[in-house]
Amino acid sequence: MEIIRAETREAGPGPADWFTGSVQVEALFNRSDRDRVQGASVTFAPGARTAWHTHPLGQTLIVTSGRGRVQRWGGPVEEIREGDVVWFAPGEKHWHGAAPDTGMVHTAIHEVQDGKTVDWMEKVTDSQYGA
Ligand code: MN
Repeated sequence: MEIIRAETREAGPGPADWFTGSVQVEALFNRSDRDRVQGASVTFAPGARTAWHTHPLGQTLIVTSGRGRVQRWGGPVEEIREGDVVWFAPGEKHWHGAAPDTGMVHTAIHEVQDGKTVDWMEKVTDSQYGA
């Protein structure tokens, strides 16, 4: 058994290449040498979002507070709220982020394949985000 104490975890800014706006990423469990499943809590300020990306083995999001938006490539922008759970299939191109006027926190859970959990792509434009 291992207890990963809340006060020992560190949050850092999401890299500017992969996020738009203010995003904080806190790894919850991410020992890639050991864990086949990783989890992080991600806090998006209003208007902030990921770039377009895919996950080799998919991803589950659990919205823990606030309100946000998600979109899969070719689909509509959809609103998500606290308590919602979102599943993205392996290789499904998508983005996730906060609502324009409200922040959002989600827990993101994804499996590791060949040491990797995500493939990053282009940024989500303002018109895509606002669509
Ligand atoms: Mn994702």
